[in-house]
Amino acid sequence: MSARQLRTEDSRRSVPSLDALLSTAPGKKATLKFGRPRVKYVLQATLSRIRTEAARGGAIPDRDQILAHALGMAARSFYGMTEVINASGVILHTGLGRAPLPQRAADAAALAGRTYSDLEVERETGSRGRRTSHAEALLVALTGAEDALVVNNNAAALLLALAALAQKKEVLVSRGELIEIGGEFRLPEIMAASGAKLIEVGTTNRTRGNDYHRAINSKTALILKVHPSNYRVVGFTNVVPLSELSRLAHEAKVPLLYDVGSGLLDRYAEVPGEEPAVTEALAGGADLVSFSGDKLLGGPQAGLLAGRADLIERLRRHPIARALRVDKMTVAALEAVLRLYATGRRHELPLWDFLSVGQGRLLSRAKALATCFKGATARKGEAVAGGGSLPGYGLPSAELVIRVPSPDDAAAKLRLGRPSVFCRVDDGALVFDLRTVPPEDDDRLARAIRYVLEQS
Ligand SMILES: *Cc1c(COP(=O)(O)O)cnc(C)c1O
Repeated sequence: MSARQLRTEDSRRSVPSLDALLSTAPGKKATLKFGRPRVKYVLQATLSRIRTEAARGGAIPDRDQILAHALGMAARSFYGMTEVINASGVILHTGLGRAPLPQRAADAAALAGRTYSDLEVERETGSRGRRTSHAEALLVALTGAEDALVVNNNAAALLLALAALAQKKEVLVSRGELIEIGGEFRLPEIMAASGAKLIEVGTTNRTRGNDYHRAINSKTALILKVHPSNYRVVGFTNVVPLSELSRLAHEAKVPLLYDVGSGLLDRYAEVPGEEPAVTEALAGGADLVSFSGDKLLGGPQAGLLAGRADLIERLRRHPIARALRVDKMTVAALEAVLRLYATGRRHELPLWDFLSVGQGRLLSRAKALATCFKGATARKGEAVAGGGSLPGYGLPSAELVIRVPSPDDAAAKLRLGRPSVFCRVDDGALVFDLRTVPPEDDDRLARAIRYVLEQS
């Protein structure tokens, strides 16, 4: 709790007892709603913080403030994950769950969740099957790879590939590609956990074919290329082209694994050319390509691998693979998403709407919303793809801008509201980027904003 929130004029008030708080009307109501253990826990935690602060001379808040704070905490943990209107302008916001699923995929996941399914049996024979075989067949069809494998996320895909192909051996990576991605994904650490030895080649800004060539020896098991998906090295730079890297790897008789990150399946007009596509990476000579399911593929969290059949089979048979397998709801959602791609219906994915909607349409929505609030304006802005894709590449967008006396407080209230709204605070104003808001949510967004503005 923030001290400011709880500070009152009366600092000589005594700290109420737990039982006194539990027997108030809100205390009793919360106990019924959220369960006694949790309510007791949050009240105890709040009281002990207050006692510590009081011992240091801090003010003691009144009973209603204590209850409101503690019971708010209990309610948030009880209701858990909450729907959010994402007005941040970051399309693949990892904190907000990356890509929203298309209706079909969400329905498929819900059905798989509440029914039995032929998850791991072959219906023809009744014998044991593999849970990801259909998704993998779709991936093979979509990418032209010999085989494919689905695991829990891209970090898991890399861990598995490194463990299966390079344990106790050396893996060459360019220094310019030793990436860290938000959420504790650090390539050197994954490498260490897999048992593979990282050999850094080249420098941060320049790596040449000869750098790889000189590092290759009898212990080399793999060359790894990683798409630097959340940054760009600009200026005096050199990256070894995929074709050259592939030639080097094959001369040395080691596979080339390319972590393209975002999972852009093919070259689509909405996405600029620097973002590697899976099909291009395979055609360009990568033996294995790894990518996420919930970035530019627009599906559920998953790690996808496509490439040479012999390598995929080694990964599939590795004991770690069993620990990285996906849940049946993920299988169902992923299959549904891949079917949309396979039948030319990727535009049903919310992600592609967000990426492709025109700035003019966004601006007219922003203007319509601005008329609802006194002093609000609409302006052009810039959204980003996020989630480790299209770094440094802005998407022309439109924003609703509302000046309020204390924008940080208002933004916090918006986040805590229902529906929860995430916006930006920029130069003393609340900024709502509409590229990441589905048009059908404009009314709900307006209501959520009005509610908070009326309170403050
Ligand atoms: C996002 C990303 C990862 C991590 O993928 P997760 O699916 O989040 O585990 C790994 N490598 C690259 C290049 C990425 O962009």
